Amino acid sequence: MEKPKAKVDESKCLGCSGCVAICPEEAIDFYDKAFVIRERCISCYLCINYCPAGAISEED
Ligand code: SF4
Ligand code: SF4
Repeated sequence: MEKPKAKVDESKCLGCSGCVAICPEEAIDFYDKAFVIRERCISCYLCINYCPAGAISEED
């Protein structure tokens, strides 16, 4: 089974944009808050480990 993609909880996102820079697949874009471009996400979870606000998690 495919691993869950990452998702951003906008209500927790601080807008630091660090996750955009850390994603190896350019799968995170930023417009006020970060959001994941699902088609590009390879579920490496670097962003989840990085986010200082704990705003990124696996999809349900
Ligand atoms: S690292 Fe976390 S707080 Fe920073 S932009 Fe990404 S989701 Fe938001
Ligand atoms: S899980 Fe990996 S590929 Fe997916 S958005 Fe986060 S850093 Fe990018």
